[in-house]
Amino acid sequence: MSFCAQLKNELASVKTQNCCKPALAYGIMLFGRSFSVKKISLQTANEKVAREYCNLVFEVYKIRPALTCGGTLKPTYKAEITSEADRLKILAASDFGISENAVPRDLFIKDCCVHSFIRGAFLACGNINDPEKEYRAEFNLKNEKLADELAFLLAENGIKLRKILRKNGALLYTKESSAIEDLLTLMGAGKHTLSLIDTKILKSIKNNINRARNCDSANISKTVEASIKQRTAIDYLEKTDRLYSLPQELLSAALLRKENPNATLKELCALSLESLTVSGLNHRLSKIVALYEQLNK
Ligand SMILES: [Zn+2]
Repeated sequence: MSFCAQLKNELASVKTQNCCKPALAYGIMLFGRSFSVKKISLQTANEKVAREYCNLVFEVYKIRPALTCGGTLKPTYKAEITSEADRLKILAASDFGISENAVPRDLFIKDCCVHSFIRGAFLACGNINDPEKEYRAEFNLKNEKLADELAFLLAENGIKLRKILRKNGALLYTKESSAIEDLLTLMGAGKHTLSLIDTKILKSIKNNINRARNCDSANISKTVEASIKQRTAIDYLEKTDRLYSLPQELLSAALLRKENPNATLKELCALSLESLTVSGLNHRLSKIVALYEQLNK
């Protein structure tokens, strides 16, 4: 089962308080496939969502939607309010019902009702991708007016979404993991919020490991680069008979490097019979490189 199907199953099972039920039912209907005097219909691939919706509509309006299942490859559940009188009754439940594309603010008794309404909208037209693959949440709206209404309501609740207009509607979406987390929390998806946070932590650990790896290889390449410079200088001094006339401390450093071309400074210090510090040795080798550069100007 996909991440989103699991999430919708979880959301459809959230225990809804009585004050929230009209808002939740209205949210599912308003953001479903059709919501007008002519047709009130919800279409979903999720059986649990379809069944919970039918029970909820019955509980709130005493109207039983006709539930059918179709689809050849994947099952599609369709819940329709078949009688016009019932549709009128539902549209009359909110003063905003007349416009068919408005958020029914008169159904919001408390904040919890707003959250339930948003949960309803998501059940009807929302999608969240598996966060292990991609952070993306979206609402697929029938028209721009409805998209603007929902975007405004979500923004009031601290969740900012972007809008794209489409040929037959509009899309609200976000790719921000923190916004997705906020949305999941607001809708009451405890389990999935936690799994998203887990994924985020895992991702950040993976990023840190990669960063550390890159950092290590950057350090390694710096060491190699420095060693190549030093060996070039030492080879040159040797070929031009200058090596053995260097001061003793530079000569010993040069020989140490020549014999251990791939060692780090720390390793060279450990190999040396003198008590050398890394910065002391680095200073001596830098002097050799500087001498070589001066001779080759
Ligand atoms: Zn409520």
